[in-house]
Amino acid sequence: MEKIPVGILGATGMVGQWFVRLLADHPWFEITALAASARSAGKTYAEATTWVIPGEPPEAVREMTVERCEPPLPCRLVFSALPGAEAGPIEEEFAAAGYVVSSNARSHRYDPDVPLLIPEVNPDHLGLIQVQRRRRRWPGFIVTCANCSTAQLVLALEPLRRAFGLKAISVVTMQALSGAGYPGVPGLSILDNVIPYIPGEEEKVEREPNKIWGVLRGDDIAEAKLAISAHCHRVATRDGHLEAVSVALEREATREELIGVLEDFRSLPQKLGLPSAPARPIVVRKEPDRPQPRLDREEGGGMSVVVGRVRECPVLDWKLEILGHNTVRGAAGGAILNAELLLAQGFLS
Ligand code: NAP
Repeated sequence: MEKIPVGILGATGMVGQWFVRLLADHPWFEITALAASARSAGKTYAEATTWVIPGEPPEAVREMTVERCEPPLPCRLVFSALPGAEAGPIEEEFAAAGYVVSSNARSHRYDPDVPLLIPEVNPDHLGLIQVQRRRRRWPGFIVTCANCSTAQLVLALEPLRRAFGLKAISVVTMQALSGAGYPGVPGLSILDNVIPYIPGEEEKVEREPNKIWGVLRGDDIAEAKLAISAHCHRVATRDGHLEAVSVALEREATREELIGVLEDFRSLPQKLGLPSAPARPIVVRKEPDRPQPRLDREEGGGMSVVVGRVRECPVLDWKLEILGHNTVRGAAGGAILNAELLLAQGFLS
């Protein structure tokens, strides 16, 4: 198969670097354009980038010239790792110019005609693409992936929702520093500390799952109405968000049944054999002190979520810990999986 030429908007940033790394040897996609702000445009990628993620920048991109984030770029699909404040109009410009945009940014997540997609959970929401194109008269379109904390929460709870129904969720997050980009949170603010506030994060975690778990009816998503309470904290880990979660279920279940449905969960990306789909989207650890960010974040190449400590909750029904790699499953890897689903479902032809 001839590879699809792809570009990365915001290629020099933290998530942009993960895109570069994950796409370097991708079997379906080939990086043909890198773009960032006017500060970086015209420089080589190596000159423009302070490389801060594990490994070295791939040889193939080091000497590529960074472009401005505006069409035309020599590609059909662009991955967006732009800041939320900048992404909105830039992504629209690309979709209007005929590009497929797979975005990480928050700007279009709540647009009623834009899919907020987790391929294992709501692949049918791709039905919004034709609505979006029709309403906006765009030859291209935008799909978005969820906020990093939402993505791992919703993926891990999806088997429980399907088997037993969800009534309410309480989540306390411990979010890694990489989630704030680079240079991110100043060292003196986070060393020896936990910061109990991440601007906008609790609102996202409380809102996004209800769109993702919504039902596509005609041209619209009828959102779910789950009660969700989120407390979000920044902690001094590098990668991997840990979430302490309590859930109330619609139907009674035993601990063994919960663990069984979590371990057995497979979905469309696994069935289609998408290149970034982990064989096991959810990995359950039985030890009393797992999952831990440093030990478990690389599970499934960072695309699996790891669940542990499933136990009874005296307030809601059950408690569990959920860990996900925020810059892989929660950002670049999630957007790449979305694009793989688009290709497999015929939206890139
Ligand atoms: P970042 O490290 O600050 O990188 C931002 C990128 O956007 C850089 O390439 C920057 O280019 C470019 N940029 C900034 N302003 C621009 C403008 N006006 N026009 C064009 N390009 C511009 O941010 P990040 O952490 O990678 O996050 C990127 C996006 O992903 C954000 O929307 C964030 O909310 C989302 N996200 C992040 C995570 C995570 O875990 N970090 C998870 C999920 C989603 P220069 O280098 O030239 O300035």
